[in-house]
Parts: sequence; C-alpha cells; structure tokens
Amino acid sequence: MKTRTLRKDKVNIITLGCSKNMVDSEVLSAQLKANDIDVVHENRKRDHNIVVINTCGFIDKAKEESVNTILEHVALKKKGTLDKVYVTGCLSERYRQSLEEEIPEVDAWFGTLELPLILKQFEADYKAELIGERMLSTPKHYAYMKISEGCNRTCSFCAIPLMRGAHVSKPIEQLVREAEGLVQKGVKEIMLIAQELTYYGLDIYKKRELPRLLNALADVKGLEWIRLHYAYPSKFPLEIIDVMKDRPNICNYLDMPLQHSSDRMLKAMRRQITRAEMNELIGEIRSRIPGICLRTTLIAGFPGETEEDIEDMKLFLQQHRFDRVGVFTYSHEEGTSAHALPDNIPQQEKERRAQEVMEVQQEISYEKNQEKTGKVFKVLVDKKEAGRYLGRTEFDSVEVDNEVIIQSHRKLTPGEFVNVNITRAYDYDLEGEVVE
Ligand code: SF4
Repeated sequence: MKTRTLRKDKVNIITLGCSKNMVDSEVLSAQLKANDIDVVHENRKRDHNIVVINTCGFIDKAKEESVNTILEHVALKKKGTLDKVYVTGCLSERYRQSLEEEIPEVDAWFGTLELPLILKQFEADYKAELIGERMLSTPKHYAYMKISEGCNRTCSFCAIPLMRGAHVSKPIEQLVREAEGLVQKGVKEIMLIAQELTYYGLDIYKKRELPRLLNALADVKGLEWIRLHYAYPSKFPLEIIDVMKDRPNICNYLDMPLQHSSDRMLKAMRRQITRAEMNELIGEIRSRIPGICLRTTLIAGFPGETEEDIEDMKLFLQQHRFDRVGVFTYSHEEGTSAHALPDNIPQQEKERRAQEVMEVQQEISYEKNQEKTGKVFKVLVDKKEAGRYLGRTEFDSVEVDNEVIIQSHRKLTPGEFVNVNITRAYDYDLEGEVVE
C-alpha cells in the first residue's frame, strides 16, 4: 500500500559509520538525482517515503547502531509512514544472509560495491559520465575524497577487508577531475581518505604513487587545504612528507593510526612494524617538517594485553607527544584472525585502560595548546553555533580534532579563512580573536 497515492517518491539516505561510507552515500545521491529521483541526505523534514540506510559493520557498537536504525525504520514502515526500506553498506555486506532472515521487512539488502544494483531497484540507470560526481552532505566548504577502496593489509583485529574487499586505487586523472568539480562547488578543503592511504597506486601503477597524486591535487586552483587521513606506518613512503613540505596547500597534518606501542601487541595485531621502527619513522617525519601535526589511533584491550603493555602505551605517548590521539577498545570480530585468540579482557577493563591512556593524552594536548596562545593562525570558519563562530587551523581535521572559538567584530562566513590571534587554550579547543 502506498502511503500517499500519486505522491512522487522521495528518498532519504541515512549514513552510519565512517567518512568512506559518507562518500558512497554522496555518490548514490548524485546518481539518483541524475535519474530525476528526489533524494535527500539525513532528511529532518521526514517528508520522504523511501529510506536507504548505509550501514557500518566495523565493531560491536557500530553494528548495534546500524541494527537499531534498521529496526527503527522497519517500525515506521509497519506504521505506514514509509513505503520502502533498503539497506546497504558494511553490515549488509558482512551479515546479509542472517539479516535477511532476522529482518524480513527490509525490502532489499545490498553490499558495499553494489551501486548499480541499488539504482536498478529504482529503475534508474548507472551514469558512468558522473564518475567522481557527488551530492555533498558536508558543509560546502569541505569534502572527503576517497582515493581508493578496500585494503590488502592483514591486521588481525580488522574486519574491513571482509566488507570492502581488496585494495583498488582510483586513477589520478579521475581524482583530479573530482577535486576540480568539488572546488567549482565551493570546496576549499579536501580530506583524503582510504582504508590505507599510503598503499595508493601499488595496484594500478605497480608502485606507491601518493606523492604524484598529492602534487597533481595541489595543482588544482582554488584548493586551499589538502589533508591526509589513514596513513599506514609500515614501509611509509617518506616522499609524501617532502611533497607536504613543498606544497603550501597540503596541510602539515598527518593521521597515522599506530594501534599499539608494545612489540608483543604489534606482532599479535600483525601490524608489520616494530616499536623501534615507529620511533624512527616519527623522528624522521618530525625532522623533515618540525611542527607537523601528528594524529594517531590506538586500541586498548587486545587479547593478551597486560598492564605493562598499557604502561608502555602511556610512555609511548609521553615520548612522542602526539598532537591528536583517539583510543578505541578492542572488539572481538568473527572472521578476523584475532578472533581465534581468547577475548580475555573484560569490557569494563578495556574501557578503564582506554580512559587511562586518554588522561595522559589530555595533559599533553593541554600543554601543547598552551604553546599556541599569543600566536596567530590561519583559521577556516566552519559554522556559527550558540552565537559563537567555530573554525579550525590546518592542524585540525573536522569532527575529530580541536576547534577554535572565534571572537569577531564583523560577520564571518563559513568557508572563509581568517587570521586568529589565540588568547586562550583548553584541553581540546582554542579561543581567539580575528586580526585583520
Ligand atoms: S590497514 Fe589494517 S586496520 Fe586499516 S583497514 Fe586495512 S586491515 Fe583494517
């Protein structure tokens, strides 16, 4: 039964999980729109009758959120508020069979690489000429750009290769066209993302070509900031840092998940790198760009981890004083090689360890932020919230890093760059006034 007869279909796309999922939703939106299908992203007006839920299947918490979102919309369908519920993304890719049995009310399930099939469901054609075209769901002055899909690494805790498949790089020419298209839409900042950024090119060019891609993107007129996320430390191509140093529109910012510090854990996690090699790499990166902003991610509670390992992780943070750190608790994922190990650390203890590590980082972050007071930074204005302008320096990526609370005597516009003299610093934020 149609909810309202003769009403034109309106599709709401809901994206869960990471920025890579968000890019997939943006690509799907552009394809549907190009087929004259009315499509919105995260529609608060609720005047849609069809939803596509782009799920995450990475770790327990994310899977729970995805299942709850599906059940919530299936309930709306039962109530007659929705006509169709479609599910795609990593959770669907990973658990399709059991989900089809458990939630039969869902109209169709799709995997992570089945865009043409989703379009077919809407009697829409896949328009190859739209490659790189997206309906942005971010504020229009910044966007994510996925430079490859999948991953060839074998980190023992990670289920991503099960959901995203092998590594596939996008050609440089295609990415440059995509960047030019984004700049035409008003984008000033692009976050480069992938499952594993530094592997770029090894498949299609038979060698690491991230430095060449970076130079090509840095040549795109109007692109003010290019930011690197998800770099892998093992066999890290240091030429990336040289290009970063030479090109002013590549932020002196590097997100490089390291996951742990102790050799025993790094080995069990199959990270293909040792503590000594990480120390050397961090030292080399900092010697080439003093003041570069280093972000990393760590996992607490991996099977077999001891109190000594956590003490070592805290020492590692004090030794390297990273600018930005995120700590996750280990999630025991079936299908990963670590799943064969006993998940012998209780969840509460995992969270206690993660908290303890973050307390060390909080102090470091506060001290490093203090060093910024009295200095002037170029800040990208993001938004006005509760009467205050908020922005970021080149050392801060969206949603995960520090924000700058900006005092200004004049009206500011999101997407505008201003110079800000930092007057106050907090654990994770800065405050300052515009200096014209
Ligand atoms: S690099 Fe490791 S952690 Fe990252 S997506 Fe690949 S397998 Fe997972």
